[in-house]
Amino acid sequence: MDCGRFLEPWLMEFDHKPCETKVADVSAIVGNGTCSVRRLFVEMAKCEVVCVECHRRRTFAGRWNESLQRALAYLVKHRLELEKLMAAEANSVEAPR
Ligand SMILES: [Zn+2]
Repeated sequence: MDCGRFLEPWLMEFDHKPCETKVADVSAIVGNGTCSVRRLFVEMAKCEVVCVECHRRRTFAGRWNESLQRALAYLVKHRLELEKLMAAEANSVEAPR
């Protein structure tokens, strides 16, 4: 959950909304110095302004969710194969004498 704070400008960032197609970071467009104001405004309109900490949390949560979803899909798809491998591994362990 976002903190809702408005901090000093250097602690606020433009976070692209998930439904929008990101062409470039707003800071990169500004830093480029050669792009039009119109292009800058178009990109800014795709964003929400959040503090740097919330931006990091959002970014991390999104990546974590994507990784977790891929891992779960992999496990479901290969469940039988994984069970065979685990059974083979369990059978290969020598019984204590
Ligand atoms: Zn925040």
